[in-house]
Amino acid sequence: MTQFQESAGLDPKKISVLGASGSVGDSAIDIVSGSPQKYQIEALTAYRNVEKLAKAAIKTGARFAVVADEACYQDLKEALSGSGIEVGAGSSAVEEAASRSVDIVVGAIVGAAGIRPTMVALEAGNQVALANKEALVCAGDLVMAAAARLGKPILPVDSEHSAVFQVYERDNRSEIDEIILTASGGPFRTWEKDAIAGATVEQAMKHPNFSMGSKITIDSASMMNKGLELIEAHHLYGLAADRLTVVVHPQQIIHGLVCYSDGSMLAQLGAPDMRIPVAHCLAWPERAPAKTDRISLTEIAQFTFELPDYDKFPCLQLAKDALKAGGSLPNIMNAANEIAVAAFLKKRVSFGGIARVVEQTMEAFVQKGENSSAAGIEDVLSLDKSAREVAERLLQDGL
Ligand code: NDP
Repeated sequence: MTQFQESAGLDPKKISVLGASGSVGDSAIDIVSGSPQKYQIEALTAYRNVEKLAKAAIKTGARFAVVADEACYQDLKEALSGSGIEVGAGSSAVEEAASRSVDIVVGAIVGAAGIRPTMVALEAGNQVALANKEALVCAGDLVMAAAARLGKPILPVDSEHSAVFQVYERDNRSEIDEIILTASGGPFRTWEKDAIAGATVEQAMKHPNFSMGSKITIDSASMMNKGLELIEAHHLYGLAADRLTVVVHPQQIIHGLVCYSDGSMLAQLGAPDMRIPVAHCLAWPERAPAKTDRISLTEIAQFTFELPDYDKFPCLQLAKDALKAGGSLPNIMNAANEIAVAAFLKKRVSFGGIARVVEQTMEAFVQKGENSSAAGIEDVLSLDKSAREVAERLLQDGL
């Protein structure tokens, strides 16, 4: 197959989407089904949402559909009976979906559940377009080493990291002074600290610009999301914590910037529409037309920028501390945050309690000296489990 034939679309790229029933999954299905001549789905996975998974599998003509929860196997089988689509269930089936030979695996599972499938995809020789930032936060060294062995970069789906990827001059990487990630500031940007601490689930779920899954929406409200993204950027671009900066930009049109030693700042702009970074990943290294939202600079008229308030958003400070400390502290922090966010969504803890659970879990592991780097993925997953137990105990003790 020549390059011309490829770009003429004679040989569609094979794509698998892990976390296909989620918000990023929706964007991926939308881009793929908008260009059937360019993209063909091999495998789709979900956790339990059989209905959405089956619908996406039929719409895209997927070959393999998987639910991570084995209890949902029969339902999925029935939903896809007569379609000719192969069905699987359980973590080994998710890993099979990740390891089937394709051009790109889109990693869009939420949370630490995405770590192993990401590693499996890379070790099977598949290029990964990664939305699942937690995989990099918890196991960044291992994920990046696996991508380096493969010789194919991780393609960032997160809009800020996609922005940086698009203006990152690989040949001039030693001339990069700083990377700036922009943040919307979330729904509580203008709130007072005490009011934020008592915010309700409904208030925290109102992201100003994006409609996303519940975990990342709460992380955006606490600004933990931006903290996770700093750690993600550290792994993707190899910059130390003091050269990674967060700037609040409520319009969220400029997604990320790279500042070079000659004073140039290169930025990527676009509508807050996750289909844009997904389309970029799927077409990379080329570009391809995609039906995504567009912006008019003159209608927006003004861009504003401000520094984040670390006192009002302690989760952002905790993530910066975890990044500076390194070792396994980001993994411990992530596990505690996942437990605390799930508890907040179930109204078991206040919004202000999320940061307290995270901080006290981190402190507990630092005090025990159990925060050194993980040697392998099993160590990462075992520490994730222990940190979850500590966070859960803190919640049960009423913090
Ligand atoms: P959603 O909650 O919308 O979707 C999560 C997906 O993961 C669903 O398909 C879900 O299946 C599946 N899943 C959940 N738990 C498990 C599990 N234990 N094992 C296997 N699969 C599981 O999340 P988002 O799409 O919002 O986010 C996905 C990832 O992308 C996150 O890491 C997030 O930080 C990142 N991201 C998201 C952005 C966004 O705009 N949404 C932007 C940038 C990054 P089911 O539906 O069956 O529960």
